Amino acid sequence: MPNKKKYNVNGDSGIKAQIQFADQKQEFNKRPTKIGRRSLSRSISQSSTDSYSSAASYTDSSDDETSPRDKQQKNSKGSSDFCVKNIKQAEFGRREIEIAEQEMPALMALRKRAQGEKPLAGAKIVGCTHITAQTAVLMETLGALGAQCRWAACNIYSTLNEVAAALAESGFPVFAWKGESEDDFWWCIDRCVNVEGWQPNMILDDGGDLTHWIYKKYPNMFKKIKGIVEESVTGVHRLYQLSKAGKLCVPAMNVNDSVTKQKFDNLYCCRESILDGLKRTTDMMFGGKQVVVCGYGEVGKGCCAALKAMGSIVYVTEIDPICALQACMDGFRLVKLNEVIRQVDIVITCTGNKNVVTREHLDRMKNSCIVCNMGHSNTEIDVASLRTPELTWERVRSQVDHVIWPDGKRIVLLAEGRLLNLSCSTVPTFVLSITATTQALALIELYNAPEGRYKQDVYLLPKKMDEYVASLHLPTFDAHLTELTDEQAKYLGLNKNGPFKPNYYRY
Ligand code: NAD
Repeated sequence: MPNKKKYNVNGDSGIKAQIQFADQKQEFNKRPTKIGRRSLSRSISQSSTDSYSSAASYTDSSDDETSPRDKQQKNSKGSSDFCVKNIKQAEFGRREIEIAEQEMPALMALRKRAQGEKPLAGAKIVGCTHITAQTAVLMETLGALGAQCRWAACNIYSTLNEVAAALAESGFPVFAWKGESEDDFWWCIDRCVNVEGWQPNMILDDGGDLTHWIYKKYPNMFKKIKGIVEESVTGVHRLYQLSKAGKLCVPAMNVNDSVTKQKFDNLYCCRESILDGLKRTTDMMFGGKQVVVCGYGEVGKGCCAALKAMGSIVYVTEIDPICALQACMDGFRLVKLNEVIRQVDIVITCTGNKNVVTREHLDRMKNSCIVCNMGHSNTEIDVASLRTPELTWERVRSQVDHVIWPDGKRIVLLAEGRLLNLSCSTVPTFVLSITATTQALALIELYNAPEGRYKQDVYLLPKKMDEYVASLHLPTFDAHLTELTDEQAKYLGLNKNGPFKPNYYRY
């Protein structure tokens, strides 16, 4: 009997989760022209932008215009089961991955902890996420834990080409490059799932596009699939819809609503990256600037805190009186967008809603007003309403457009209304480490769960696992956690090893 290492966790819900480390044709004939493929105005994959990654790439300036789909490439072992921009960039990508490893202590700890035991032995994971150095660390961890992986990008702009090359070089079938067309996007996903002699048994999705594709094209695959792990708001929303309609045919883990995702990725990631995104695109100074932030949820709170710290004058708009009151008590002026739209220097949307900034607002903004979005999809700013004949668009930098009115007024639109930090800056690896560890544990849990523990429904990771993810990150800070005494544990009615909070606790 092989040696088994078990982490038993007992959530409040009574679900006993157990991570067990044990031995264990498509329709692309009508291909678009190169120009079509590269069109910047293509709007795709609003999905999957709840977790982010470095958009900066040394390959940004690459002048190789050949589509990766038209190239014959092989890695050094002779495999051509991948499609990336340029396999020769692998060495640079490897360095990026090594740098990311330094800031992803929990995944590295999981690798060490497994020590040859393979909790994911036999797992065939098909993934669709941002392809960045941080994802690479996750994929290589999954590989070290025994899984086979095939991967596509969940966003047409976010792939780091050199990282994709490094993964392909080390044998991962990766199908992704920065600047895919919509057609490329689905082609890449299809190449991950439509493979002779290989069928996935786990899905790791960010935005729900991959899950949707399998549902639409290969529904029979679900017979072998043990579970879906989904990271984004949108993807999770789609899963709940499927579940409600009785169409979800496998268990799914909602990673988005894990405390370790929502309270860290959404808040701290945005607090750290909003300034970076604005700075890189506009070189602006923040002190004294008037900014309106729409939405005071986790993302809005992060953005407001960062801008306030830089000396900006921050206004907030909200629809929810609770979040509105929080904004007031944090010292922000709560306004309607109409009240400040003429005077502000920057407008930032973080609502997850649509048409929060309308053409009417855009018409009334002052000259040089910067408009950007930190929410999931590009629906928050009505960018389509700016595509009218009387307005002139001028691309002034990558991801920066000046939209010019007939009277000469111009607004500065960043990333065409897509997520600013995803499109124009980097985000802290350490925060992504927390999310990636949660994803890895969710995969291990679903893959190893005994029959019947999870039904065809959407689940949250047991709280004990959230606490475990957090605890794996504490050593980075040389943080010393206090332990309950027996007397205290009894007094509070807690197990000394957690979980320490009821499921309804809000942090
Ligand atoms: P949230 O639900 O906590 O906050 C959104 C807030 O917007 C809510 O308080 C809601 O009341 C408010 N709101 C809704 N419609 C509004 C309107 N018309 N005007 C003003 N306020 C309105 O969600 P969150 O976690 O803050 O995420 C917000 C968005 O950001 C989501 O789309 C999410 O997917 C995305 N997100 C982005 C990043 C990033 O790195 N940029 C990270 C995580 C999540």
